[in-house]
Amino acid sequence: MNACIFCQIIAGKAPADILYRDEWVTVFRDAHPVAPVHILIVPNRHIPSVNELVPEDEALSGHLFSVAQKIARQEGVDQDGFRLMVNCGRGGGQTVFHLHMHLLAGRRFHLPF
Ligand code: 5GP
Ligand code: ZN
Repeated sequence: MNACIFCQIIAGKAPADILYRDEWVTVFRDAHPVAPVHILIVPNRHIPSVNELVPEDEALSGHLFSVAQKIARQEGVDQDGFRLMVNCGRGGGQTVFHLHMHLLAGRRFHLPF
């Protein structure tokens, strides 16, 4: 059995609050939200991180943004604004090694973190 929790969610073998899915991505709410809206946009194929993306994944990478735009509108946060975040590697704060984009909204965000 695939030990990756996101692969299990995508396969329907682990529970998640799934908001959207298509041929390329599955979108579900983060189990430990750090903002009123905290959603994960996850490729259906297991790609560990940005480091493993290849040129053939450019359309998939762009699709993550298209879906983020759609979900932000669906959640009613597109006009107020939102943050998209992709962590890569331990130094980047990645804890689940299946590529994903965070969509965060509903509070104010600042840099630096
Ligand atoms: P990372 O730190 O890798 O960028 O983000 C991983 C995210 O996945 C975290 O925000 C964490 O709360 C979320 N997460 C970890 N395990 C699960 C899970 O089993 N279900 C859901 N829905 N989210 C998870
Ligand atoms: Zn996976």
